Amino acid sequence: MDSAEIKALDAADPLAAKRKLFALPDGQLYLNGNSLGPLPTAVQQRMTELIGQEWGIDLVSSWNKHGWIDLPTATGEKVAALIGAAPGQVICCDSVSINLFKLLAAALQLNAGRHVVLSQADNFPTDLYIAQGLDTLLGKARCQLQAVSSENLLAQLNENVAVLYLTQVNFRSGAMHDIAALTAAAHAQGALVIWDLSHSVGVTPLELDKWDVDFAVGCGYKFLNGGPGAPAFIYANKAHHDKFQQPLQGWMGHAEPFAFAEEYEPAGGMAQFLTGTPNILSLVALHAALDVFDDIDMAQVRTKSVQLSELFMSLITEHEVLQSLQLESPSNAQSRGSQLAYSHPHAYGICQALHARRIASDFRSPSYLRFGFSPLILSFTDIGKAVATLAEIMREGKHLDPAYQHRQKVT
Ligand SMILES: *Cc1c(COP(=O)(O)O)cnc(C)c1O
Repeated sequence: MDSAEIKALDAADPLAAKRKLFALPDGQLYLNGNSLGPLPTAVQQRMTELIGQEWGIDLVSSWNKHGWIDLPTATGEKVAALIGAAPGQVICCDSVSINLFKLLAAALQLNAGRHVVLSQADNFPTDLYIAQGLDTLLGKARCQLQAVSSENLLAQLNENVAVLYLTQVNFRSGAMHDIAALTAAAHAQGALVIWDLSHSVGVTPLELDKWDVDFAVGCGYKFLNGGPGAPAFIYANKAHHDKFQQPLQGWMGHAEPFAFAEEYEPAGGMAQFLTGTPNILSLVALHAALDVFDDIDMAQVRTKSVQLSELFMSLITEHEVLQSLQLESPSNAQSRGSQLAYSHPHAYGICQALHARRIASDFRSPSYLRFGFSPLILSFTDIGKAVATLAEIMREGKHLDPAYQHRQKVT
């Protein structure tokens, strides 16, 4: 594809103006929105107000005066609009890991009598670790993690499975599951589902109610742009409310936290998923960040996400020097989220060399280069530049520079 064709794609892009909503520095090419979303300018303003007035001056009265106490629910409702959830089924709190613990315990309780948690061996490690932890805590008679390859999931879905426990978009390869089909297959076997939407929320159209999903979690700091360590969200289908008790019962999930009663009594609805005091600084940031999505059509976001990644893939094939990069993502866009992974023995050095040229990508062990496509901030011209720079690095052997070999703590 030549530069005129790329320019034409930009000219026809209905989301082109959205980049102005973000505080990205000039010259920074950001292919890492799937790891840490960029800063929406509205968040900057909101944080100044929060710290200056609400925390600084109004102090403790802000819990009521500025609605801090309702932020987990209010932020959850904003997420609900992005995942096809009717009101009263989403709340924002804690991290994905902690929320997975709550949901997995709740699902095992709902499906008592069964003990297998069926997952995928290359699921995001924290998802597996949480299940392994519950396995140790509850014993194998009540919780037994079975992690199989993606191709074997359906074959292993039988009458012992209590919960099908999966991530929609694989963090390394970007391979995307069909939530509707797998949820229906799980239900047909009497299993519940927990979907981790960390790499899909904010970039993929989701219809959790329509797909009859039981439970889901998702990440606030990736495509939702909520900032480093932003709270995660929990979705729990209304059909299940009041039928289980999540085990991390803290005072904020009590029916009447300020009655300070001795005995725990869960709040109704989603509030029972709260544990301790909400992280207000992070919640305010996430709440403001979600305004970016107010007038956005997720179908348009998906269309552009596919166009960006298809362009990237096709440009890679045009450079002889880039043929040493091995595509590790599904080549068919329908089976992929908004990222591409390529393996290369020098993936780490390539990633560092790109970074030095102000192109953010990331490296995932053992040898993956990962590129995330955020349709709200990237232009097609950006993709052209990124691939041209990548080709230049490889042609000149810049990725072999010893300065780029030192592994930092966060890759
Ligand atoms: C990013 C991500 C997480 C992050 O978990 P935290 O507990 O919020 O750090 C979990 N699962 C998946 C699939 C992810 O992509």
